[in-house]
Amino acid sequence: MTADAQPRGLVLVVEDEPAIADLVRRYLSRDGFGVHLERDGMAGLAAARRLRPVACVLDIALPGLTGTEICRRLREAGDWTPVIFLTARDDEVDRVVGLELGADDYVTKPFSPRELVARVRAVLRRTAGPPEVDRPRVVGRVTLDPVRRTVAVAGAPVQLTSTEFDLLAHLMARPGRVFTREELLAAVWGYAAHAGTRTVDVHVAQVRAKLGAASVIRTHRGVGYAADG
Ligand code: CA
Repeated sequence: MTADAQPRGLVLVVEDEPAIADLVRRYLSRDGFGVHLERDGMAGLAAARRLRPVACVLDIALPGLTGTEICRRLREAGDWTPVIFLTARDDEVDRVVGLELGADDYVTKPFSPRELVARVRAVLRRTAGPPEVDRPRVVGRVTLDPVRRTVAVAGAPVQLTSTEFDLLAHLMARPGRVFTREELLAAVWGYAAHAGTRTVDVHVAQVRAKLGAASVIRTHRGVGYAADG
């Protein structure tokens, strides 16, 4: 269970089948990633918290704690490290990709290790930089400046309330990523807030009204909201 510092950063792989774990490790290493392997879910969760990897590759059926539970606990703690699941069955895919777990991607076993490496690289490209990164974000005609806390449509300033701004900034920090109402409540309002999930809908509607035709917020029926990427 060693972790080697590599230029692309450290990937945590939690997989209890040694042959698969070894294959994944070899391909990620060859691509310039450091790899830390764990075989047990509890050890995997602890490693994710301790090592702060750039991404996690999680098998779902694991001893100790399932991969989905690891992901859920990370998200609950506000940890948005990209997670890619290794799923053994097609019927697991809906649950994982329904994004209730906050997964970023998945591959179904048997998978090509090249494909997995490509997914890891893609997820890191999409999520490059932590959400609090200071540079302005541009999606379509909308520009959001996290430092000056300003929003503009085609250069014209739009007045958002503080909460509306935080909501839009959270969505635009991860374009294409679908957030559930519960996730948005936790991230924008904080766990202490007693607001119901309806609050999220109301604020999304307000932001959309203010952005007009340039609105970048998309509804994912039955799941939540995402900013266009
Ligand atoms: Ca397994």
